[in-house]
Amino acid sequence: MPDAGGTDHLFHTDMNDEKKQYFHALQILADNCTGCTACVKVCPTEAIRVRDRKASIDPNRCIDCGNCVSICQFHAIIPRSDSLETLNKFKYRVAIISSSYFGQFTEDISYAVAKQALLELGFDEAAEEAMVTDFMIKIIRDYIRANRDKRPILSSNCPAVVRLIQVKYPALLPNLFHLEAPMSILTRYLREKIREEKQLNEDEIGIFLIVPCVAHVTAVHQPEGVYKHLQDGAFSIGMIYGKVRELIKKVQNNPVEIDTYPKGLTWALSGVQAELVDCEDIRALSVNGIENVMDILSRVEDHYLDQYDYIVLRSCTNGCVGGCLNVENPFVAMSRIQKMIKEGEEQIIDIHNLEELYHDGEFAVAPLTARPIMELDKDIKTAIKKMKKINEFLTMLPGLNCSACGSPTCYALAEDIVLGKATIDDCLVLLKRHSKEED
Ligand code: SF4
Ligand code: SF4
Repeated sequence: MPDAGGTDHLFHTDMNDEKKQYFHALQILADNCTGCTACVKVCPTEAIRVRDRKASIDPNRCIDCGNCVSICQFHAIIPRSDSLETLNKFKYRVAIISSSYFGQFTEDISYAVAKQALLELGFDEAAEEAMVTDFMIKIIRDYIRANRDKRPILSSNCPAVVRLIQVKYPALLPNLFHLEAPMSILTRYLREKIREEKQLNEDEIGIFLIVPCVAHVTAVHQPEGVYKHLQDGAFSIGMIYGKVRELIKKVQNNPVEIDTYPKGLTWALSGVQAELVDCEDIRALSVNGIENVMDILSRVEDHYLDQYDYIVLRSCTNGCVGGCLNVENPFVAMSRIQKMIKEGEEQIIDIHNLEELYHDGEFAVAPLTARPIMELDKDIKTAIKKMKKINEFLTMLPGLNCSACGSPTCYALAEDIVLGKATIDDCLVLLKRHSKEED
């Protein structure tokens, strides 16, 4: 992928002595950054710092939620996704479309037309996340019933939420639904099917996701818990939207018969997904928006929500329709998708082969590991000393948590000072007080 801003430090980092490098589908354009600290305030994992009026992101902490991309009015933090030219590397190109894509168009553009226009970008086949919604509901229910001891089971299809749990709530990793996400299940199924039907080698088939968020682009390039090769790239809805709009006129003049899966579009709406899983012996709850998700995860840690069997957690407002790479307002997109679901015809999707792959264990994922971010030092004695120092600095700081220093809170600044990443002079409130005293 191109790197337009000389910001390689953002995408790869050495993780202690394990040499773990984290990829992020984000880029800081330093020339655009004014140092306003708006991004510092909205980052749920305190990954951003502003020093010398320029923002930087700690790759160990970033979970790719996209909050910073959405808030930055100077376009200094921008998302990255693959270039459409990547398609040329493959003989047979498949798009797997996130359900949220269909909420992005005005109501005069039909579901089928939006899908056909996407195919015209250079794909041989277009599949939809919506195709496996019923199958997902079935296997989620099976999984919950087989794992009652781990309740509440937490949904794992939002990559930002999975990373949030790895970074901030590692004790909850065993609660995560431990099978592939829908777009990955579909990828495995299609790769196998196309290989057999078209008599192609695996490396001749390119499978690409059409995604609403930074988290999914990152997940394609650095998947978690994966045993086998999954997708070959990800295109953001925002990036292809203009091109699709240009193709829509052509498609409207030459419509073709195309399969659509309106009933499965519910996957884009987090509330509906919980309603579908909920049944006589399963109680499900749905939560969206990163602040709400964090609040719920804290309650799950405290065993305050043990009455639930399943909790659907989505980082974005209203679920994936709220992804930062969409173009439409999430509430409007949601209303359009609800209309499609209501007006769409019931369709029977043959999931026979999916069932076989499921029973063969093809959708299993490797155990997920924690990404500890709070470690002050490997040596416990040194860590305790550093903790004492942090508390000393904390008593000197004003406790306003204003972020004007470029750290998200006074505690974070104290920690940065002790870790040698800031000085007490970065606190503007103290500086002002001292200069007044001197006057
Ligand atoms: S994407 Fe989210 S977690 Fe990463 S730096 Fe931006 S706000 Fe923080
Ligand atoms: S809620 Fe959906 S769009 Fe938002 S980060 Fe999670 S997967 Fe991506």
